[in-house]
Amino acid sequence: MSNEDLLALIGRQQEETEFYTPMPQGYRRGQTKYVIVLGTVMSGLGKGIFSSSLAKLLQDKGLKVAPIKMEGYLNIDSGTLNPYRHGEVFVLDDGMETDMDLGTYERLLDLDLSAANFTTNGQMLSGVLKKEREGGYLGRDVQVIPHVVGEVKLKLRELAVKSQADVVFVEVGGTVGDYENMFYLEACRQLAYEEGENSTVFVALTYVLEPGALGEQKSKAAQLGIKRLMEVGVMPHIIACRAANPVKEKVREKISMYTNVPMRRVVSMHDVDSIYLVPDMLRDQGMDREVLTLLGVHDRVDQRHEDKARARWRWFVDRIGKSENNVTIAVTGKYTALRDAYASIIKAGEHCGVNLGVNVNFKWLDTTEIAPGNVVKRLGDVHGIIVPGGFGVRGTEGKIECIRFAREQKVPYLGLCLGFQMAVIEYARNVCNIQGANSTEFEPGCKFPVIDILPEQKKIEGLGGNMRLGGKDVEIKPDTLAAKLFDNAKNIRLRFRHRYEVDPRFIPALEQGGLVFSGRHPHQPIMQILELPQSVHPFFIGTQAHPELTSRPLRPQPFFLGLVRAAMEYAKNKKAEPQAV
Ligand code: GLN
Repeated sequence: MSNEDLLALIGRQQEETEFYTPMPQGYRRGQTKYVIVLGTVMSGLGKGIFSSSLAKLLQDKGLKVAPIKMEGYLNIDSGTLNPYRHGEVFVLDDGMETDMDLGTYERLLDLDLSAANFTTNGQMLSGVLKKEREGGYLGRDVQVIPHVVGEVKLKLRELAVKSQADVVFVEVGGTVGDYENMFYLEACRQLAYEEGENSTVFVALTYVLEPGALGEQKSKAAQLGIKRLMEVGVMPHIIACRAANPVKEKVREKISMYTNVPMRRVVSMHDVDSIYLVPDMLRDQGMDREVLTLLGVHDRVDQRHEDKARARWRWFVDRIGKSENNVTIAVTGKYTALRDAYASIIKAGEHCGVNLGVNVNFKWLDTTEIAPGNVVKRLGDVHGIIVPGGFGVRGTEGKIECIRFAREQKVPYLGLCLGFQMAVIEYARNVCNIQGANSTEFEPGCKFPVIDILPEQKKIEGLGGNMRLGGKDVEIKPDTLAAKLFDNAKNIRLRFRHRYEVDPRFIPALEQGGLVFSGRHPHQPIMQILELPQSVHPFFIGTQAHPELTSRPLRPQPFFLGLVRAAMEYAKNKKAEPQAV
């Protein structure tokens, strides 16, 4: 549909209009519907979890869904954000560095997303400014309304065309009332108006307080939050009430009456043990049918598809938290104070645990506090060790100690990105006797830079978006642990985010010393997976990639599956050992 067609539909002429509604080629109005999820009262309520859970209910019914997260910050992407402040940086297959919510979408919907599923204020504004310089708006003074808002609508419709989705799920970052997201809200309001009846569902996520001193749920903050939304011209169709406990009928009633939203569409989204239980919680309250009705898409449901999808999901959720077995995996990192910095690792552990029937418990260790004298004390009780990704020198010597312990004591080890590089340094120093081996990231003038900056990165200046990013092919060496983990696949795809790599000059020495590089770039000498032969160590493997990013509930990532299996075996053998008295 062209801009003119749309204007005609809504009864306006091109010359007289204040509308700015660029349309992507091939857009068909009515084909794609929109669910827009907004936050009130406070941020961090789990808009992404709500949005992806609702999307999953429709996806299970055979509808095609596509999520998008719209962030309120001015950074072009999440790559330069500190995980301490913002949670982990989640890298997509096309190399886009995004917010950790995109991980929730990929996991719950089992989809590989791309830059089309993510935007920031920075992206939107710099796009508009670039277009202005190129003469894209000649004759007009460029304004937030209509131009920036117009670009936001375009981004949403482009996603509709690209994904051919039945429903696009839009998550607006932050809370209603923030300056940062006001133009997103206005864009969504306009979009709903232009698309017409039954095209758009607005969901307000809110919070029902339960102050300890009162011991009862209070709805006032929720009411005020929603009032704020109505002030900008948006009447929500659904209100999802986050709360510590199931929201009482009386409280829902109050919220319903105050907001004109019928009771059946004021739902409780209280805390549960696992986010994977949220889809069922929403279905039990009839949310799936409500959304289908509001969007007029009951006829797009495929019942057989739903039966199959639900049976598979049932198998997974029924096993969550049910196992009697336990393993403890140490994660040694810099951001251990903030679990969000390692969200995908925790999720990958959960996926494997559920699939293998074991509770995977993580023990968080700050490696700045680890030294040769205390490593046994700190790691003596764990069944597996992960050294995760990271940047900068802090805590690296402690990581080396952890890896040495894992290697010598035959504790299952998985190195992720930096954990792969540290394993190379540890092996070079302690087995190949290359004293002074290090990474130029930590010691620029080091004597033996076994880890050095990638040649292609040397030319790039500035710190934003300059890493080797995204999904890349990895060639697997046959008859190795890696080959076993990936069912003898010759080529696999993993996601990367790094600037440094193994310096190819040291590969022969490391291999002669017994280290096996079992995954490589198909054409360049970039080492992607290392391991020790299983005759030497039951499970010692590392990858330059971030496999935690691609683990899914029903398809746990093979590196993690291997680690958890090995940890179970290790725990079993340890139990069988005679205990020292
Ligand atoms: N700092 C290392 C590099 O840039 C590792 C990066 C990471 O762990 N993501 O190569």
